Amino acid sequence: MDCSREIEGKSVHDPYCNWPNNKIQRSQRCVWIPGPVIVGAGPSGLAVAACLKEKGLPSLVLERSNCIASLWQLKTYNRLRLHLPKQFCELPLMSFPLEFPTYPTKQQFIHYLESYAKRFDIRPVFNQTVLCAEYDQNLGFWRVRAAGLKDEECEYVCRRLIVATGENAAEVVPQIEGMEEFGGTIMHTSKYKSGEVFEGKKILVVGCGNSGMEVCLDLCNNNASPSLVVRDTVHILPQEMLGRSTFGLSMWLLKWLPIRLVDRFLLVLSWLILGDTGRYGLNRPRVGPLELKNLSGKTPVLDVGTLAKIKSGDITVFQSIKRFRRQSVEFVDGKSENFDAIVLATGYKSSVPSWLKEREMFSEKDGLPKRPFPNGWKGECGLYAVGFTKRGLLGASMDAKNIAQDIETCWKADAKHFSATFNKLM
Ligand SMILES: Cc1cc2nc3c(=O)[nH]c(=O)nc-3n(C[C@H](O)[C@H](O)[C@H](O)COP(=O)(O)OP(=O)(O)OC[C@H]3O[C@@H](n4cnc5c(N)ncnc54)[C@H](O)[C@@H]3O)c2cc1C
Repeated sequence: MDCSREIEGKSVHDPYCNWPNNKIQRSQRCVWIPGPVIVGAGPSGLAVAACLKEKGLPSLVLERSNCIASLWQLKTYNRLRLHLPKQFCELPLMSFPLEFPTYPTKQQFIHYLESYAKRFDIRPVFNQTVLCAEYDQNLGFWRVRAAGLKDEECEYVCRRLIVATGENAAEVVPQIEGMEEFGGTIMHTSKYKSGEVFEGKKILVVGCGNSGMEVCLDLCNNNASPSLVVRDTVHILPQEMLGRSTFGLSMWLLKWLPIRLVDRFLLVLSWLILGDTGRYGLNRPRVGPLELKNLSGKTPVLDVGTLAKIKSGDITVFQSIKRFRRQSVEFVDGKSENFDAIVLATGYKSSVPSWLKEREMFSEKDGLPKRPFPNGWKGECGLYAVGFTKRGLLGASMDAKNIAQDIETCWKADAKHFSATFNKLM
């Protein structure tokens, strides 16, 4: 009898079988999972679980946090809304409620995801942090080791593994000279909720992506005095143009025109609507916004009112930081300013290389699939990736559908193979 059937046989009678391999301690639980294991219960993990469910295929979702969509529930600021219109953020098989606005609030999006999980009966195992996942060549299975709340470990054994831990699994915190000397608060945007607690304070926001720009606006609206560090060039586009969302308009134009022409069009309109952003220390990259997104994954900032505050002088723009002092920050241009707190809007990165023992599909450098979009979703030996396209929820939905389709095909082939073997034995 081959190993796979031995395990399958055991799992029928005893799902908590002891794995017959010396790598596992005896005290560790070992569970055979008949369907794919999905790591991460964010929108991507939920989307792929739903697509599988729709095809009648079971799966198990493991989540390190105690809730679904932990990025949205636990690590985002209160005023957050979807940056893109709702039709570009829907997960497969279920639309947003009609009464939702074009840009749903964070709470509405979370509510949508909760209804989504309920509708497809997706019940993740919470508080399960995947520490290691490795393909066992001898057995032909993935062995996924996870730790629970009290550090008790469990090994999940499966034929297919779907990585859905996201591009935002770990905070990026830059190391800047003198940081440990600084006397005020230093926090990452993942801990920032609202500017209320900073009323009357001088705050330095480091990083000018969508989050950094929006945190500055929130601080202004709460009577704090924010400054913004802009180290690199950045494309700022209005959220809407010609009565349509800039994203929607771009997608539509790309159907007819080459990307460089669409970029030119977007830049001319942005200039007419916003003026020359370079005048305020926000210089544009040489490459256009859509081409840059394709080349490097860098997302343009969709302005929701921050630029007006920069123009009015409510937000001061600084160049790169040279070093921190006890109460102040020195900048590379020689300026120095006192601040009460620093908010690091320095983004996130994938954490896949820290736990997935595999070097073919994922790059060790950035933790993203090596194959470019739209082909990064499938690896070898039943390994899949959902939500690593740098194309937000739209990209995740595409991956989820592709993966479910592929697994259904493999599942049917497996079933045929097993029934042929069974018939032979009979
Ligand atoms: C502030 C902000 C606003 C955004 N707005 C938009 C928008 O408007 N439109 C859009 O399309 N995109 C937007 N995005 C991009 C965003 O990343 C996606 O929308 C979405 O959250 C990605 O879903 P995901 O499931 O791939 O990743 P995540 O939402 O990050 O979910 C991954 C899950 O995996 C879990 N996990 C991680 N590591 C482990 C582990 N080792 N073991 C177990 N579980 C683990 C995490 O706890 C998390 O719950 C935004 C991102 C941010 C940060």
